[in-house]
Amino acid sequence: MNRWIRTVLDVAFPPHCRGCNGWMSDEPEAILCRPCVDRLDRIEGAICVRCGHPLGPHVQPDAEGCALCAHRPYAFCRAVAAMHYDDAARPLIHRFKYYREPHLKIPLARFLAQAIRAAGIDGHIDAITGVPLHWRRRAGRGYNQSQLLAQELGRIFQRPVPARLVRRTRATRAQSLLARSDRAHNVVGAFAAAARQNKKYKQVLLVDDVMTTGSTASACAQAMLDAGVKDVYVAVVAR
Ligand SMILES: [Zn+2]
Ligand SMILES: [Zn+2]
Repeated sequence: MNRWIRTVLDVAFPPHCRGCNGWMSDEPEAILCRPCVDRLDRIEGAICVRCGHPLGPHVQPDAEGCALCAHRPYAFCRAVAAMHYDDAARPLIHRFKYYREPHLKIPLARFLAQAIRAAGIDGHIDAITGVPLHWRRRAGRGYNQSQLLAQELGRIFQRPVPARLVRRTRATRAQSLLARSDRAHNVVGAFAAAARQNKKYKQVLLVDDVMTTGSTASACAQAMLDAGVKDVYVAVVAR
């Protein structure tokens, strides 16, 4: 946008933080204010090489996984998360998902990109896709938040974001409403991927907003593996 138009607009409509609605004076292009960014508990340092869970200071990374994931069969080879899903991240992700704040994709994708680089996964991406929503849910929401993040990451890493790598074949009950033990069963067979699109890519980055048990990401990854992808990596905003 032209600088003068921008200045006039900023005087008429001072930019608001999309996290807290507070006025922002410092960075005209910013979506989140500094205090909102600082409140987020980012996952940094040593992480589990399977599920991305942060490891304590005296725990060595183990190829078999950590105490949380060692006994979980995942179809994806690695997962990373940008931040903890706590009282600071939860309302932000809810705004992004349910309250039509698609602009939040910009800062959230930046945090994701940092986590992906820190884990060294950025060299393993041939294509990027978001976990698909069932068409009925996407129609109600107006957009698929995970695909928006995938598109931002595609711009950042200069990788293709094909529209139809994987789709949801049936509407599943929201994972957040189910007991942990019921979640894997809820998403089994809920995704399908066509070999014609998938066999072009050896390594795919699958993007989602939140990961709890990993069942959704794993079911989605399994569909892509069945369609010819060799490795699926997972990146989520929060866990
Ligand atoms: Zn704020
Ligand atoms: Zn783990």
